[in-house]
Amino acid sequence: MSDPLVAFDGVDKYFGETQVLRDVDLAVDEREVVVVIGPSGSGKSTLLRCVNRLETIQAGDIRLDGRSVLDTDVNEVRQRVGMVFQSFNLFPHKTALENVALAPTRVKGLPAETAEERARDLLDRVGLADQTSSYPGALSGGQQQRVAIARALAMEPTVMLFDEVTSALDPELVGEVLDVIEGLATEGMTMLLVTHEMGFAREVGDRIVLMADGRIVERTPTADFFEGPDTERGRAFLSRLL
Ligand code: ADP
Ligand code: MG
Repeated sequence: MSDPLVAFDGVDKYFGETQVLRDVDLAVDEREVVVVIGPSGSGKSTLLRCVNRLETIQAGDIRLDGRSVLDTDVNEVRQRVGMVFQSFNLFPHKTALENVALAPTRVKGLPAETAEERARDLLDRVGLADQTSSYPGALSGGQQQRVAIARALAMEPTVMLFDEVTSALDPELVGEVLDVIEGLATEGMTMLLVTHEMGFAREVGDRIVLMADGRIVERTPTADFFEGPDTERGRAFLSRLL
């Protein structure tokens, strides 16, 4: 048995006095897609943010490929863990191509030409081959979010975290972003993702993890979850969404 790619082990997280993650254990295997669902405030974003050390944890450990992220240089962790948020946060005065090529040149020291060549490939992969010279302001929200995904992929991460990446988009733009993520899943990218799009979760997820009050209260293979969750909380949550 190989180690899981990402492993949470007894993770507690507090903001001041408030505990927002409670004894979280979760293992994500290589090539696995784990979908995290749960009510607002249940700790989904915090869970993801702890993986690349955007948040500190107060107890437990998170391992990436067997090694604690707490013992790993934070820049190395962030190279290996790609993250995309609800807000795209592209550099407004840089083109799509420059946005994608920037980190590989600055952080990885890739020659500009190589980084740009790769950025072109990545923009092609997210369906934006014709927008390489566009500035974010000239792109739709869906296009900007696809640039953000390409930018994360440019660091060649071993795992991708997606936190409600379509929540800020107009409904007609959601599909083009979800299609890109689904493509990544098909190619075998390991992913931990938070979404309220249950149709998408069902399509792309291997497992559903339900959080409530900082705890994982249900974890079920996707097909079984949509047949009928194991827990009362799972049933209640699903019935509100469908
Ligand atoms: P979710 O993503 O499931 O909506 P979050 O992980 O964002 O939940 O938040 C979990 C809890 O932590 C919430 O009660 C939220 O108010 C609190 N929280 C999140 N970020 C901070 C912060 N930076 N400072 C204080 N409390 C926070
Ligand atoms: Mg959140």
